Amino acid sequence: MTECSLNSIRYLRHIDLPGLGFDGQEKICAGSVALVGIGGLGAAAALYLAGAGVKHLILIDDDKVEESNLQRQILYTESDIGTLKTTASQQRLSALNSIIHITTHATRIVEENAHGFLQSADVVLDCSDNFQTRFLLNDVCCALKKPLVSASVQGFAGQIATFKPYLGAGHACYRCLFPETPPKGMVPSCPEAGVFGPIVGVMGVMQASEALKELAGIGAGLTSLYMLDSRSMQSKTMQVDKNPTCQTCSKL
Ligand SMILES: [Zn+2]
Repeated sequence: MTECSLNSIRYLRHIDLPGLGFDGQEKICAGSVALVGIGGLGAAAALYLAGAGVKHLILIDDDKVEESNLQRQILYTESDIGTLKTTASQQRLSALNSIIHITTHATRIVEENAHGFLQSADVVLDCSDNFQTRFLLNDVCCALKKPLVSASVQGFAGQIATFKPYLGAGHACYRCLFPETPPKGMVPSCPEAGVFGPIVGVMGVMQASEALKELAGIGAGLTSLYMLDSRSMQSKTMQVDKNPTCQTCSKL
């Protein structure tokens, strides 16, 4: 008996879903997802991944919960203020699904620890808020041949894509899209620009959706860049071409 069949009532709405079914749910129940950053994006994604019964969640974040986080980081409550996000989210997610296994790393992901943290993940979610981490995750996921679901939010707008450059021709990586870190000051950070709470949740939940599809082996990955402006509700997708001279993926 697998964990899925032992808990088939819990996952019934997935098992009933044409195209996902018991087989897909079993794969989700055997899967592992790493979330780098459990702020607004990661908080939303983690709830759906835990609810869906992903066997192993790896949570990486060195921040503590602050009052200004509560407007959009829906994993946390007022009583969590001052607590490490990894600690608070582990408690909240375990209360939602006590069967899943949660590993926490209350430290910043850097070149020296990234391979070790991400090695056992089937899918990696980039829920970070800085280019340095995004480039690092891209390079490591490329080397480890892991799907990378990358999302970011600015103001009222969000964007998301899934990168699998190791699949070869036609499959771009994050660095094919953004070869270099934009000059300082060109992209304002959250505290400078402000951020609309719900758009962070929308993008985080889309990351969870992409991860579950990857684990279950269903649907089509979001290989284009999907962009949504929540003020106008206008969305567009942009094809991401593989850069033949990309320093990360061109030699794969
Ligand atoms: Zn590339």
